[in-house]
Amino acid sequence: MARYLCLHSNCMIVGGISRSTICDIQRNEYHLVPNSLAGMFAESRFVDTGKIKKSLDAHSCAILDEYENFLIRNELAFYAGSLKECSHFPPVSTEWDFPAHISNMIIDVSDAYELDLASVLASLKNLNCRYIQFRFYEKVRMPQLKKMVGLVNNSHVISIDILAPSEGLEVSELISLVENNRKINHFILHNYAYDGVLYDEGGFGVGKILTVSERLESEMHCGIIHPNYFSVNIETYTEAQHFNTCLNRKISIDRNGFIKNCPSMKQHFGHLSDTKLEDVAGNEAFRQYWHIRKDEIRKCRDCEFRYICTDCRAYTEYPGDLHAAPLKCGYDPYSCEWEEWSSNPLKKKAMETYSASPTLQYSEA
Ligand code: SF4
Repeated sequence: MARYLCLHSNCMIVGGISRSTICDIQRNEYHLVPNSLAGMFAESRFVDTGKIKKSLDAHSCAILDEYENFLIRNELAFYAGSLKECSHFPPVSTEWDFPAHISNMIIDVSDAYELDLASVLASLKNLNCRYIQFRFYEKVRMPQLKKMVGLVNNSHVISIDILAPSEGLEVSELISLVENNRKINHFILHNYAYDGVLYDEGGFGVGKILTVSERLESEMHCGIIHPNYFSVNIETYTEAQHFNTCLNRKISIDRNGFIKNCPSMKQHFGHLSDTKLEDVAGNEAFRQYWHIRKDEIRKCRDCEFRYICTDCRAYTEYPGDLHAAPLKCGYDPYSCEWEEWSSNPLKKKAMETYSASPTLQYSEA
């Protein structure tokens, strides 16, 4: 009697040029597998392994046994007795949508411009944006933080992250701020004595104070691609099928008050003092970045991590090329090896070019 090896519906095979991943988007983990294993499921999520084995020699049969054991042991697949039984496990839809014009915002706060947060929050309400990341690179005082969080508390926004240097902030005051303001998701202190977790309010994954020893000088620290930042879940996986996983439905204000897709990008769409966020969010030129999928980016389109990886369009290997690979990725999907991107002299040079180039208003030309 036939026995079918069936991939669980939440286990997605992503083929790369040299190897593949099985992304378990329910358990939030991924497994590296050979392309020959991934190829077994190229046409269907259900495979009659007994039938396949009839055409294989003993050595290949042993490899197939190994693959089956691996899939069953890791609960990536199960056995079904008939195709009818298999049909009870339909594939997960890979459609993606989000109930907002803008899903998230980054605001780089600095002394170089006056942030009218109340008016930004009013615009975000119109756009139904409910998440903001505030980033400070210069010293910030507790009264300023309290005022900012107070405005957020009375707004439509439901969750914020704050990144700020540790100078001048008392740990006890910070803990009290996080404890008393439940909309603070993560407070990240940079230039701190060590990397770690300073405070974890109840261990529910929110209300945390995290610390990093590195001093983050500017928005140029952004865009690093590393397995630690992979995001294995249904939201990222499905979004990556259709959109850019970094810039889709994002709007930002840079440290000079210019409105951009991301504060690190050179192109802006007007200044906060005279341009409405709603107008920028509706601008087709602004939205063009939302549609750049990993499948269209050179190198990434051959990579087995492309649906769980973040992206960066601000720093790419060829500045100005919309479809060039992220500059700060040290992964080579052809050799399957990681190298430290910053030690590559060509990449170092590209970063110098980025540092030297000015911010410019978007123009059709
Ligand atoms: S090659 Fe592209 S998809 Fe692969 S890890 Fe690097 S940035 Fe991510």
